[in-house]
Amino acid sequence: MSDAAPLFNKLCLIGLGLIGSSIARAARARNAVREIAAYDASPQVLARVRELGIADDASGDLSSALAGADLVILCVPVGSIGAVARTCAPYLERGAILSDVGSVKGSVTAQVAPHVPPGVHFVPAHPLAGTEYSGPDSGFSTLFENRWCLLTPTPDTDAGMVEVTAEFWKRLGAKVEATTPEHHDLALAVTSHLPHLIAFNIVGTAAHLETVTQSEVIKFSASGFRDFTRIAASDPTMWRDVFLHNKDAVLDMLGRFNADLKSLQGMIEQGDGQGLFDLFTRTRAIRKGIVEQGQDTAAPDFGRPHDGKAP
Ligand code: NAP
Repeated sequence: MSDAAPLFNKLCLIGLGLIGSSIARAARARNAVREIAAYDASPQVLARVRELGIADDASGDLSSALAGADLVILCVPVGSIGAVARTCAPYLERGAILSDVGSVKGSVTAQVAPHVPPGVHFVPAHPLAGTEYSGPDSGFSTLFENRWCLLTPTPDTDAGMVEVTAEFWKRLGAKVEATTPEHHDLALAVTSHLPHLIAFNIVGTAAHLETVTQSEVIKFSASGFRDFTRIAASDPTMWRDVFLHNKDAVLDMLGRFNADLKSLQGMIEQGDGQGLFDLFTRTRAIRKGIVEQGQDTAAPDFGRPHDGKAP
């Protein structure tokens, strides 16, 4: 528990899945807020939140969850966020910060901004932290530690409100940087969206191969395939929405990826061993840089224990 005073009186989280429930746990563990209210469209999720005891109020009444909240964070899939913002708008308190955690920022800003009432400060955010698990049981209080959280305020967002939102994420253990929604969406298309698309594709292709049996795919998976299956097990709703809402940047990166793949194909066809060696040497150095910056450990298999649980 942090000795520092809470930054907000009342945090209201809308959507208590992996990210929302992790924020609830981290905010409480680090004394970031005095009170936590939780609202979710699913009565089963709310019942589980009550059992887990990770919020002070999870009664299922949206107006009472939002009453008095000076920080509201939308933690729902990107495709639902506009509708959720519209439903919340009448109950938002003047002076409150409205934020989110959506994985795409241009679309989220376009969907939410029209519903933000006068006097409410909209500060979009995206914590670059997650796992392949979903739901309130999958969250944990250390999820954001040493991870980046990107804020994408509009030019007219009050600078003081951006600062206090940044302080909130720092209190949860994150490192914070501000950028534009456009730059965020391009950067994340490279670092997150394209790798997920490749994993979905590889695992899908392997599942369709007729010359290799399903049992062999599973049995020999440790030779590389297994690491892709972890990413390809990510939430289908979330990822459907990411690709539909970051369409232009993902298609741009996919075009570049296809060109690079073609060049790799050419090296193999022409027996260009030096070209392959040079490329793999450069990619190995990128992995080293990620470990050196503390964004992963050097332990094999992404440092994950083999007990099937999130870290
Ligand atoms: P999740 O575990 O599936 O949780 C989403 C929660 O929102 C679920 O409980 C869902 O209920 C609820 N919900 C859906 N529509 C709603 C609505 N209209 N009103 C209220 N609640 C609603 O997903 P998550 O991984 O936490 O992702 C949440 C957001 O975080 C997404 O925008 C995602 O892009 C972003 N994000 C995810 C990650 C990651 O790695 N997972 C990382 C960073 C950011 P049901 O289960 O009943 O649908």
